[in-house]
Amino acid sequence: MPIYEYHCQACDREQSLLFLNQREAAKSPRCKYCDSRRMTRLISRCTYHQSEAARLDNFDASTPRDESFYRDARNVGLWAKKRAKEMGADLGSQFEETVEKARSGKVLDDL
Ligand SMILES: [Zn+2]
Repeated sequence: MPIYEYHCQACDREQSLLFLNQREAAKSPRCKYCDSRRMTRLISRCTYHQSEAARLDNFDASTPRDESFYRDARNVGLWAKKRAKEMGADLGSQFEETVEKARSGKVLDDL
């Protein structure tokens, strides 16, 4: 399933949208924050799995993040991963699973 990054011109936010197929992706999407259709697709962004390593490298765990940072689902769990990496800890597949759940919102549903 293709994932595209969009910039919303109405609320000036970036977001990644997941589409079921190429045909869905060709339609003009709505901003998930403000429901605007004034969305510009950002070209040449990689898919989620390719970009996570880069995000992890660029992520500074010592810098506090504002709320909007955590609204981006891809950033959920990034802090914990970074810290664990620095400490040389192996979080194991259980942690990966938890992060995936958190990113898809399933953890919140379970509470
Ligand atoms: Zn918007």
